[in-house]
Amino acid sequence: MSTTLFDLNGRTALVTGSARGIGYCLAEGLGAAGAAVIVNGRQAAAVEDAVARLRDRGIAAHGSVFDVADEAAVAAAFQAFDRQGLEIDVLVNNAGIQHRQPMLELDVKDWQRVIDTNLTAAFLVGREAARRMVARGRGGKIVNIGSLTSEAARATVAPYTVAKGGIKMLSRAMAAEWAQFNIQANSIGPGYILTDMNTALVNNPQFDAWVKASNPAQRWGKPEELVGTAVYLASAASDYVNGQIIYVDGGWLAVL
Ligand code: NDP
Repeated sequence: MSTTLFDLNGRTALVTGSARGIGYCLAEGLGAAGAAVIVNGRQAAAVEDAVARLRDRGIAAHGSVFDVADEAAVAAAFQAFDRQGLEIDVLVNNAGIQHRQPMLELDVKDWQRVIDTNLTAAFLVGREAARRMVARGRGGKIVNIGSLTSEAARATVAPYTVAKGGIKMLSRAMAAEWAQFNIQANSIGPGYILTDMNTALVNNPQFDAWVKASNPAQRWGKPEELVGTAVYLASAASDYVNGQIIYVDGGWLAVL
């Protein structure tokens, strides 16, 4: 098999929420495969720091500070890309937040915030990116980050579960509408991964033991273990794969 199948030289990838965690790792991995990357987050200093670290690794990196859930901010960011001549070939909708609370106590504001950031934002950013991909006529790749909860519900994370279930179907809706423009939209469903999002859970001995006992791999996943799947879904190797979700979970769903 030719390694050029996975070559991203000449491509530009926007990874939302990529100043840290899984997003940073994916930006670094796509960059290592040859892509220029645009780092996004809400904190200017964190974005600048991530851009500097990627440049130190020889990756052509740019920063873009905006809130993915803010429609006007998303539109303004893409107008800035247009002015800078940044044409996005690969979009990774990665930005996300978690909120743990039983539904009986859940406020609608928290419900909405989680849905807006984890699901509506992927539509907003995806729409702006796809409009330009269609206009350019060169196709493109969209990778939406779902979760185990795209498949299986967990207690105390209802809006997150609903949003991540929606991510799986958003990829299918994008595939249904945009395959004709040579755009492939797929999802990745990570298992329990060691990032800031899970600090409290890792430090909870009961939860930590449950993760290890319920997963055939008997351990948490590492952010870098998602890179291969992201590069595959961003590259020509997946040109006839559309609307799918690939779980990267150490086998957790296999034994559920
Ligand atoms: P982190 O909490 O470590 O990082 C989340 C990132 O998203 C940060 O860079 C944050 O940047 C950014 N972000 C959050 N809200 C916004 C926003 N409104 N606009 C722009 N950026 C935003 O999380 P992970 O790296 O763990 O998670 C990344 C993705 O993977 C998420 O979609 C998450 O749901 C998913 N996932 C994670 C799993 C895990 O076990 N860790 C498992 C399954 C899925 P900042 O706050 O600086 O703006």
